[in-house]
Amino acid sequence: MSKLRFRVVEEAFDRKAVSVDVPAERPEEYYGKYVFNRKKMSEYLPGEVYNALVYAIDNKESLSREVADSVADGMKRWAIDNGARHYTHWFHPLTDGTAEKHDAFIELDGKGGIVEEFAGKLLVQQEADASSFPNGGVRNTFEARGYSAWDISSPAFILDKTLCIPTIFISYTGESLDYKTPLLRALNSVDKAATAVARYFDKDVKRVISYLGWEQEYFLVDEALYSARPDLVMTGRTLMGHESAKNQQLEDHYFGAIPSRVEAFMLDLEIECHKLGIPAKTRHNEAAPNQFELAPIFEETNLANDHNLLLMSLMAEVARRHNFRVLLHEKPFAGINGSGKHNNWSLGTDKGVLLFAPGKTPVENMQFITFVVNVMAAVHKHNGLLKASIMSATNAHRLGANEAPPAIISIFAGTHLSEILDKIEKSTQDELVNMSSGKEGLKLGVSQIPEILMDNTDRNRTSPFAFTGNRFEFRAVGSSANCASAMIALNAAVAEQLIDFKTKVDARISQGETLQHALLDEIRALIIQSKAIHFDGNGYSEEWKREAERRGLDCETNVPKIFDSYLKESSVNMFKTTGVFSEVELAARNEVKWEMYTKKVQIEARVLGDLAINHVVPVATRYQSLLVDNIIKIKSVFPGIKGEEFAACDIATVERISEHMAAIKEEVTRMIAARKKANRIECEREKAVAYHDTVLPCMDVIRDHIDDLELMVDNEMWPLPKYRELLFIR
Ligand code: ADP
Ligand code: MG
Repeated sequence: MSKLRFRVVEEAFDRKAVSVDVPAERPEEYYGKYVFNRKKMSEYLPGEVYNALVYAIDNKESLSREVADSVADGMKRWAIDNGARHYTHWFHPLTDGTAEKHDAFIELDGKGGIVEEFAGKLLVQQEADASSFPNGGVRNTFEARGYSAWDISSPAFILDKTLCIPTIFISYTGESLDYKTPLLRALNSVDKAATAVARYFDKDVKRVISYLGWEQEYFLVDEALYSARPDLVMTGRTLMGHESAKNQQLEDHYFGAIPSRVEAFMLDLEIECHKLGIPAKTRHNEAAPNQFELAPIFEETNLANDHNLLLMSLMAEVARRHNFRVLLHEKPFAGINGSGKHNNWSLGTDKGVLLFAPGKTPVENMQFITFVVNVMAAVHKHNGLLKASIMSATNAHRLGANEAPPAIISIFAGTHLSEILDKIEKSTQDELVNMSSGKEGLKLGVSQIPEILMDNTDRNRTSPFAFTGNRFEFRAVGSSANCASAMIALNAAVAEQLIDFKTKVDARISQGETLQHALLDEIRALIIQSKAIHFDGNGYSEEWKREAERRGLDCETNVPKIFDSYLKESSVNMFKTTGVFSEVELAARNEVKWEMYTKKVQIEARVLGDLAINHVVPVATRYQSLLVDNIIKIKSVFPGIKGEEFAACDIATVERISEHMAAIKEEVTRMIAARKKANRIECEREKAVAYHDTVLPCMDVIRDHIDDLELMVDNEMWPLPKYRELLFIR
């Protein structure tokens, strides 16, 4: 059996870098080659159709039937010119990935042949059988049909000779069954709310745009090794495996030289990204061995999220060309860092002003403080919900483990911003007004922040939500997640807060207060009210957990219970005010979350049970029996006390192996019983809680015994590639 392991290890270690097909042109020439962007639109669409489409995109309006037909025709011609034969509505169901159903462009011509056609109605809207996608009962309660409809704000693209049309996915009765619909609603709502507040400072602001720059972390594993680990294949993570003697303790991987095989993969991936208009920019090694990161230039949030989803599919595809498998799981290996997907997020006006960036004038700085403080208040009010938005069965293994934020949301503000907040909080109203209206700018110190904040070096890596100079970095997001989940909750929560803020400021003004007075008063109230969320200390420490509890922050660690936050009154109201989710949608989506949680743990438990009983125990038995043979032989060669002495060491090992095997069998039996019992529970929430409380703990126990056996059993016999083999690409 171990022959397989040795063969795959040898295969993996012998592998050389695959050569990359680098285009002859420079990136600026092939960038966006496969995207139906404005340049292609202007080439393929009649002038008036182009204008109508651009107008609809910019003003979030829908297309008339005639325009849609003409756009579809132009898009089809462009796609065919670029080798496409099929088209698909590309959408983001409530699973981790994307969905597509391909149709050829062909229609019968009535003369025994075909014509390549694509009608506007097929571009704009399609009926999709929604019943086989997770829908949390919405499908049962309402109608068995769903629709996908083109999101014109996101350009169509060609992937694998298929024209992909980004779409939203909704039920016949209008409930969202995807991530894109509520994301667009949340972005719309934060645009409206933030624009209204930004107009206090600049009356000409027409629009506020939400920006997202994600940093995608991932692991690479050689495909031969991957295939020899059923746990990786089935669950995306290793369910067993003793720590390697060397892993990341020497800190020699982070920013280290990139292995040539990996560099070839990265180059290939970047070229593919650029052809698809994904502005991939940064690449480097991450902290753990075999862990890497890719980050693009930030973009408008909806587009950035499409690009991240597209990237995740591209990575899987390109990795195969290089004989790698990409692991997007948040915690593929125990004992070393997991992978996140930092969501760098900001708001900016249509005039190019970033609202979380300190400005050059007192007015701009007042605006900066206003927006930053409102974000803090929103994150404080909805800290439990924001945690729920990033939580999953897989991310749960990362949060609170090695070098990862705990399952508590707090905000890191940094020394300079903290000082400013402090000053505002402690000053009297008159002092504040005096300070903020002096000729030389805000004496709050705010006038000096541009320089200081921009090279803000005290970057706290332990915070799940950090202010980083001109943006916030939501670091708790998991590497496999659809960023939309976090972006929906965050943008909507901030929208609600800004609406509330504006109402209060306006009320003060209507009572005769000056704008400046009103703003400062409300800002100070928010600083005081949301103090608990502000934490600049070490988020990895045990004291912080106790402190956070004292501060009343959400410290729940039980994943299925964390999802309850979506149904809290404050969340339901917030999503209603912002028009992002109805209560029906929230309830349905939580059903999906609980169901997904249960299924993921269930699959892991089955795989682990199988590996334990059918792979590990038989090998340990064989090794044990070798030892027993040896003991008998020693005793026959050395009768009496000498033989006893010589055999003692093997006898002890046999005993320990027996104990581990007995414990594994017992625990697997217990785990199966726990599963059976949980499976009988009807309520999805209770079932998920049962899986969390009674199945998961068995898995940890089983793993510990297996990992001990790995160190005892003859290396030649051990069937599964070990961490030291999986984790070091040659
Ligand atoms: P880090 O030092 O945290 O790795 P980087 O400079 O690599 O930071 O940037 C990380 C990501 O943040 C990139 O995708 C970058 O484009 C994005 N980013 C930078 N500024 C903003 C902003 N104002 N809003 C949103 N994302 C931003
Ligand atoms: Mg970062």
